[in-house]
Parts: sequence; C-alpha cells; structure tokens
Amino acid sequence: MKPENCYVPAGADPLTEAFAFAESMPKHGRAARGARPLDKPFAEWGPRLFTHRSCKPLALYVHVPFCRHRCLFCPFYQNRSSEEFSEYYADLLMRHLDLVEQALGQGAGCRPVDAVYFGGGTPSDLAAPDLARVLRRLKSLFEITPETEITIEGRVRDFTVEKAQAWREAGANRFSLGLQSADEELRRRLGRLAGREEILKVLNGLADTDAVLIVDLMFGLPGQDRDLLLEDLRFLAEETRIDGLDLYELIQFPNSPLAKAVEGGRLGVPADRAGRAQLFGAAAEALAGYGFEHFTPQHWRRGTRERSVYNRLAKSNADILPIGSSAGGNLSRVSIMMERDIDAYAAAIEAGNIPARCLAPTGPMGSQERFKSNLSEFAEYLKLPPVDLWPEEAQAWAKPLLDNWCEAGLIKHAASGQEAAPLTMAGSYWIKTMHSLLLGCLAPVETASPMAGHPHAGGGGHPGGMPPDGMRPAMHGASGHPPGHHG
Ligand code: SF4
Repeated sequence: MKPENCYVPAGADPLTEAFAFAESMPKHGRAARGARPLDKPFAEWGPRLFTHRSCKPLALYVHVPFCRHRCLFCPFYQNRSSEEFSEYYADLLMRHLDLVEQALGQGAGCRPVDAVYFGGGTPSDLAAPDLARVLRRLKSLFEITPETEITIEGRVRDFTVEKAQAWREAGANRFSLGLQSADEELRRRLGRLAGREEILKVLNGLADTDAVLIVDLMFGLPGQDRDLLLEDLRFLAEETRIDGLDLYELIQFPNSPLAKAVEGGRLGVPADRAGRAQLFGAAAEALAGYGFEHFTPQHWRRGTRERSVYNRLAKSNADILPIGSSAGGNLSRVSIMMERDIDAYAAAIEAGNIPARCLAPTGPMGSQERFKSNLSEFAEYLKLPPVDLWPEEAQAWAKPLLDNWCEAGLIKHAASGQEAAPLTMAGSYWIKTMHSLLLGCLAPVETASPMAGHPHAGGGGHPGGMPPDGMRPAMHGASGHPPGHHG
C-alpha cells in the first residue's frame, strides 16, 4: 500500500467518512514475523521465560471457557456450563497451578504481579467457593499485593452479590459486567433476560462491595438507535455507581447466529459503518457531559479508582502468563496458547502436563514489530507514537501523512520528532484502521532469522511462536475476545 492511499480526502467528515474508502482494503493487524513452534513441555522453557524479563510488568490471565448459553452476537462461545462444571473446572485450574508451581518453583514468587484477570466465557458462572479457592491459590503462589488489580468478568444473571462478596474477601478488587444494553426490549431480542430493575439491583450490590465496577456496552446492535444508546448512558451515569465503561462496536461475523437472525428479519437492521461512527460520537459527547474521562479508545472512566491495568498491559509488550483451557498469553515475546479443547486440556492436566502450544520469534524484535507494539501502546493513551519511533523506511512519508490526518481532524496536532500526536474523538474511533493502514504501508514481512544471538537461544532454541489467528479468539484481549466483551 502507498502512503498517499492513506490520505483522507478533502472535505470528508472525520468521524463518518475519514476512511470509508478503506472498508474493502486488506487488514494489516500485525507485522508478520518469523516464528516456529516447539512441542517441548512447559517445564523446559517456562521457568526460563518467566524469569527472563523480571523487571517487565506481569499479568496472570485465567480463562473460563464456559457460558450458560451462546449469545447471539458472540463468536467466542466454547462450552456450555452444566451443574457440575464449576467444581470440575476449578479442580482443573488448581491442578494446573500445581504444575506451574512444580515448574517455576521459588521463581513463581520472584516477580510482582501487576494484574490478574479472570476472563471468558463467563467466570461469574463459577460457584463462589470455586473461584475463591483458585484466587487464593494464585495469591499463595505469586507475588500479589493489595496494589495488584484483580478483575472478574461476568454477566448480570450470574453475578450475585453473595459471589461478589466472597470474591472480594478472596482478593478481587474489580468487577466487569457485560451488559451490552440496559434497554429491556433490545436485551430481550438478543436473548438477555435481566430487566432494568434486576440490572440496577446487581450493579448497586456490586458497588456496595467497594470494588471498582466496570460495565461494557455495545453500539451498532440491531434496532439500537441514538436515543436508546443515550438513555443507556444516562441510566448508567445517573442511577448507578459504575467507575468505568467500555463501548464495543458490533462486528457482525458472516454466518453467525446474529447475522442469521438479522437476515431472517427477527432483530431489526444494525447500523452501517457511518451510523456506528455517529453512535460512537454521540456516546463520547454524552459521556464527557456526565464527567467521564475518555481513557483508552473504547474505555471511559469516572474517577481515578479505575486504572484499567490489565487491559493496558494486554496491549503492551508485558508478560502475560495464561492459565486454563484456551487461555492465551506471552512470555518474553513467546506467544502461548493453552489447549482449546476442554477434554484434551483436562486429559493433559490430569496426566501432569501443561498443554501449551507456543510459537517463538526466530530473531530479535525488528523495526516493524516494534512499530506495531508502539502503535498499540500509544493508542492506549489516545496517541500516535512520535515520529522518532517510526521505522526508518517510514520517515520520508510520515510527516506529510500526519499533516493530512491533522487537517482531516483525526489528530490534534501532527506528531513531531519526539512528541506523540493526540487523537481526536474521530481519531479514537478510526484508530484500528489507522494502524492497519500504517502497517500496510510498510514491507509486509520481516524474514525469519536464525535463533543465534537471541537471549533464549540454545539447545533446541526457543519454544513456540505466534499462534495463527485461529488460535487466538480467547486471548486476553490483545486480539480476539476483548476483556469485558461478554454477554
Ligand atoms: S458473549 Fe460472553 S457469555 Fe455470551 S457466549 Fe460469548 S463468551 Fe459466552
């Protein structure tokens, strides 16, 4: 792709039209890089990777791939929760942690943990004592302090106040509820049964535990217009004590249950791209009016109790140790994905093996990979990185392109040598497209290079590498299933 093709046409409305031309272009989510898989057991490579970057931020991600039923809009559903699933899965997680302890030994407690995240799936579907014992085990194994952000995701129907209190006592300090909408009619059409009163009762009960409370909403749902979305925001801002809110744009996957329901005329028509952009703009304005701070491209907070530590780490180069079936993470640039099939996962754990598939980069971090990482990290602060951090091959075209994006209303001022460029509200909406275009302008592939010289090289070389996209839907929010994007 040529940089000139990334210019916003003169006179285009920044929010609704900036990159309408890019809809049909190929996406460049990440710079390709050399990687190779390794089938060695976790015990052979885990300890080395875990201790290698001990001064880097560290998070633990625990995946709970069970839901009561499949939500219409969700491509991430994996296993149905049954009566027995809670004790069964918690036992597996406990056994998994025993194996982690065997492998890491004293090393497990040698790094402070910045964040713990129970994502899914529906972690709040676990029984109170089951999730609490897993959390207590994590605290006995790793260096988790009162400063560590510990989040539990869930749904209104499963998230009883009794559970919340038990999990608070075990150390959880942040609850994240997938609401999608508080409108009863819309929720009913999407198969969400909790009504406004029940939502209010649960949110107030959770707020009473004094945990940080986050809610996620979707925009662009079928039949959801501007008034309906704004009423949801008014309700949450004025009638609840939430500390933060995520706004996720509905992505309709072909052949998904949602797409079929829309085609069958059962749900109403979802907004098109321009309509979704308008909804985002209206919501951002309303939230500012209610005193919320725009914190990351899709997240707003009210007050500083909400820090969004895990979500920011997941978009950075931090280490994330994955635990549980289908959990994704990475240690020292090695991408790790736990076995997705729950039976295969259980069989491996019971046989004393941590079933991790992983891919390791085959060389030091290249300029494109570093740029991709910088784009992602700066976006979490609503910025584009300073031009000095762009790859050398982009230096010639970076400034004119940024001038165009500035004139077009996507950034407040163009990034200079060492100064990052703050995004406007329209820029926040288009940030993923901007990243994709920038990466598309760079040469597509950094060729694999030998392991020699890499800090973890030696013996059989590095374990693992980057899982193919198909392996990543449950991955801790860095891609695929975003934290908080549950039903
Ligand atoms: S949105 Fe969440 S609860 Fe619903 S099916 Fe997907 S993972 Fe399960």
